[in-house]
Amino acid sequence: MVAIVLAAALGVAGWTLSEYLMHRFAGHGPLRRKEGLWFLTPLAVVILFHEEHSAHHRDPLYFAPAWKKALATAILVPVLGGVPAWLVSAPVGLAFGAGFGFTYLAYEVLHRRIHTHPPSNRYLAWMRRHHLHHHVTPKMNHGVTMPGWDVVFGTRETPDPVTLNRKLAPRWLVDEAGTLRREFAAEYQLVGR
Ligand SMILES: [Zn+2]
Ligand SMILES: [Zn+2]
Repeated sequence: MVAIVLAAALGVAGWTLSEYLMHRFAGHGPLRRKEGLWFLTPLAVVILFHEEHSAHHRDPLYFAPAWKKALATAILVPVLGGVPAWLVSAPVGLAFGAGFGFTYLAYEVLHRRIHTHPPSNRYLAWMRRHHLHHHVTPKMNHGVTMPGWDVVFGTRETPDPVTLNRKLAPRWLVDEAGTLRREFAAEYQLVGR
């Protein structure tokens, strides 16, 4: 039983670390599409992720289509769960895969809501500041579900207030006239027209 709980917890932690590394090194790494048969190499996954992620940075309300994510998950989770299943036991592999997959889903929901909905508590407000600052300074704040990885790897920045370009500010942050809502005045400032 202890092994199963531990495997699930490792799955959760495993996703948060994968998310950080993928975001930092694939999302903002140097790899680009090349001439020739780049799409037949294993690096194609990194390049395609980079392209989807760049599109999200150009338009923060763009998220990669669900079918692409479902396809990636359907391949990745059984592979990741398969390794501990083979090394230890099937229930341990299942628990690891479940922890990993569940935290991935939590990431999808959290990331989307950061851009679409106002925070409902101080913790979620802090997570929004962390990620929205990443949209201004893409070299910093890569962790979404676990901003703690940015502390570990020295990529954390906590400006106070967070400065956002008015055009890229989430809709929940501004009123109909495009002015910063008063309840967020201490945490954010908007620049540009
Ligand atoms: Zn984002
Ligand atoms: Zn990014």
